[in-house]
Amino acid sequence: MVKKRKEMRIRCDCGGYFKEQLHEIDGLEVEAMVCPKCGYVTLTKKQAKFMLELRKMTDALGVGRRVIRIGNTCGVTFPPILVHPGQPVEIRPISPNKYIVSFGK
Ligand SMILES: [Zn+2]
Repeated sequence: MVKKRKEMRIRCDCGGYFKEQLHEIDGLEVEAMVCPKCGYVTLTKKQAKFMLELRKMTDALGVGRRVIRIGNTCGVTFPPILVHPGQPVEIRPISPNKYIVSFGK
């Protein structure tokens, strides 16, 4: 038997039910609760915590960076509050000029 995931339904003041979906807030793409009836957007405690963490990371990174030369290779620096020396990094290209950089613990 496949157990169906229990869905939490939160009702909006307009009478509609919020749906969790990706939404852009202050330039950040985050999961948010959006009312499909009136368009009102709110965040759960978990979503708000995630957004604050993302905001902190965005502020620490600043707007842009340049590739720097490190010996015979090149690199991009990150603020030490986001990463630490020796931390494992996985880099996957997703297009010729875009990469997904994932840091391990
Ligand atoms: Zn609504």
